[in-house]
Amino acid sequence: MSVPTSVVGFPRIGSDRELKKSIEGYWRGKHGIDDVKATAKGLRERHWNIQRKAGIGLIPSNDFSYYDQLLDTSILLGAIPQRYKRLALSPEDTLFAMGRGYQGEKGDVTALPMKKWFTTNYHYLVPEIDDSVSITLAGDKPFREFEEAKALGIVTKPVLIGPYTFLKLARRPEGAPLAIDRGLIDQVASAYASVLQRFASLGADWVQFDEPYLVLDKERGDIELFKSLYAKILPSRRAQEGSVRLLLQTYFGHVGDSYETLALLGFDGIGLDFVEGKDENLAALAKFGVPEQTTIFAGVVNGRNIWRNDYAVSLGILDAVRKVTSRVAVSTASSLLHVPFSVANEDGLDEQVRRHFAFAVEKLDELKEIADLADAGDEERRASESLKRNQSLFDGRRVTADESVVSRIAALTEDELNRQPARSERQRLQREELHLPVLPTTTIGSFPQTKEVRAERAKLRHGEISQEEYDAFIRSQIDAVLAKQEAIGLDVLVHGEFERNDMVEYFGQNLNGFLFTKNAWVQSYGTRCVKPPIVWSDVSRAKPITVAWSAYAQSRTERVVKGMLTGPVTILNWSWPREDITHEQQTTQLALAIRDEVLDLEAAGIKVIQIDEAALREKLPLRKSDWHAQYLDWAIPAFRLVHSGVKPGTQIHTHMCYSEFNDIIRDIDAMDADVISFEASRSDLTVLDAIQDAHFETEAGPGVYDIHSPRIPSQQEIEERIGNILDKMDASSVWINPDCGLKTRGNAETWPSLEHMVAAAKAVRARL
Ligand code: GLN
Ligand code: ZN
Repeated sequence: MSVPTSVVGFPRIGSDRELKKSIEGYWRGKHGIDDVKATAKGLRERHWNIQRKAGIGLIPSNDFSYYDQLLDTSILLGAIPQRYKRLALSPEDTLFAMGRGYQGEKGDVTALPMKKWFTTNYHYLVPEIDDSVSITLAGDKPFREFEEAKALGIVTKPVLIGPYTFLKLARRPEGAPLAIDRGLIDQVASAYASVLQRFASLGADWVQFDEPYLVLDKERGDIELFKSLYAKILPSRRAQEGSVRLLLQTYFGHVGDSYETLALLGFDGIGLDFVEGKDENLAALAKFGVPEQTTIFAGVVNGRNIWRNDYAVSLGILDAVRKVTSRVAVSTASSLLHVPFSVANEDGLDEQVRRHFAFAVEKLDELKEIADLADAGDEERRASESLKRNQSLFDGRRVTADESVVSRIAALTEDELNRQPARSERQRLQREELHLPVLPTTTIGSFPQTKEVRAERAKLRHGEISQEEYDAFIRSQIDAVLAKQEAIGLDVLVHGEFERNDMVEYFGQNLNGFLFTKNAWVQSYGTRCVKPPIVWSDVSRAKPITVAWSAYAQSRTERVVKGMLTGPVTILNWSWPREDITHEQQTTQLALAIRDEVLDLEAAGIKVIQIDEAALREKLPLRKSDWHAQYLDWAIPAFRLVHSGVKPGTQIHTHMCYSEFNDIIRDIDAMDADVISFEASRSDLTVLDAIQDAHFETEAGPGVYDIHSPRIPSQQEIEERIGNILDKMDASSVWINPDCGLKTRGNAETWPSLEHMVAAAKAVRARL
């Protein structure tokens, strides 16, 4: 019998981002929802067929989504808060209202809060269970999509986010914690039980429930919760008309602390991540064994990176698993949602380079080849062409080290990791130097990247305009955005980042060591996609990157202009990192490159420099016990290395795209920035309590309005927000700013929103 193959999930946005384009076209009124539905159906069909042709055994369905799979789950379970139901919109528009807010003739509501999906750069919408909600199986999306595939002759493996993960991520309104009581557990368990029964009667063979929350540290009662849910759910695999097998899928880490429970419960399949949780998962298998009826789905193909799989490593893992059980399937380690579509279109990369990469489509072939090799005897493996081809990628060194980078790192001293003098002393000096009012207003850096800006960049790329013409255009954009910021009365201005397509790609393009793709897009949230660069070899700065733009902007105004950089941890986290040297090594290289830029900005007269670490939290290990040793202990010093060389009067800002740092608040202070801005308007404000309790020293600007939505906040609303902030923080350390950069917004909503923000700040200031 050959080894079965299973894909945890496949990207849905389309090889050419068709889904994004179609949905955004609908939002702009370009076409109706039927167009979107047709595009979606076409994509599902194409993606199933690609997997079928690649010989994949268990092809996922219901991994498709218009916006987010957790939002789909909420809707499936009837968890639609009153305020969205009251709008009385169509099902699709209700979904979009929950995802991105709604402001129109039917009402005015903000979107659900959005959070990062575990350690990825994907964002999910937080399920909200208010008092009006009782959980039942309220929708039919998974069944419709199963039948749709079946009509094409493909019996898929439907995929749902499991009940445990759903409940652990769900909140009450306003982000309040959810009390998971008996009644709720029963409701959720019976909804999922009905799902299994429906699939049994529809003729599904396997159903996959994703329970990534299992890879987190357990709190009291977690294991009990898991058991009570599944004790109810598992028996409904057998319905009157047939039966299904249930695959319990975990990913992004190991389940060493719960594997014994999983084994006892008697799942038909257990999916384990052997990329991110290899040692602990193997140890758990060896210790507790595998029940007779259970198949282990060995996740050996990385769903989180784009490098070719090392077959020898994967076969080693499979052989180890097979020492414990003969029932093994080969699987992706997580959903392929987090990698781009296909390498095939990357004709800009040299074949010698390109052969090192596998995106989603290529990973399907890897799965199949690994499964075939797993089946083969030693003799056959030795003779295998696919194995030889694969091994040639890993023989010897892929790239040679850059000696100047290596020696610079070797010569680093402890002093270079620490800025002098202490922050309180700096804050005093900076106040004198910058002449800012209390509650200073600023923005996070970017202003709307209009069609016009993108068109000019495209013209430059296609050689239709000269570099001089392009630069003149950017300067005119800077002039205009400075004038507008002055007009509405912002205190610390920005140049607008018009020269950047993306805060990471732009720096990558100007550093040695990076590679770029044409079309390697990955979904970030809703219809937003990102195209991370690839770290290919050692990183260093070839020449100044942003200095000319910032210096130009500062020369055009009397007010302070903030310079704008991306920090080393974020550049790495939003790139495809190398697998042949550590993340720490790569981050240190990046820190030195950005440090050069910081010092050049200062020398050019820039007094405030923001170093964005939007993604600092993203790669925080999922288990607390690993936080410091495996990450913070080198990531935080790397940030300090970037700015430790500036003068005391130069103000260093940082920015983060989230506010969940209650638990790492001391580490945030240890970054030793002078000011931090962070996203806050869509999150609960418990971070303010933490700031208060911890006597946080860094001045802080919790975002006062949401920029992920086109909605315009009123002045009053922002004043109230500032009031909430001042309840918890001393006015002398508060900054007023939006949640994040304004690049994805239009000018139509940006300027009124900022006007309201500045007016709100002034009104509150007057009352102090
Ligand atoms: N400075 C960047 C901007 O304003 C920050 C973006 C981000 O945090 N994602 O766009
Ligand atoms: Zn941000």
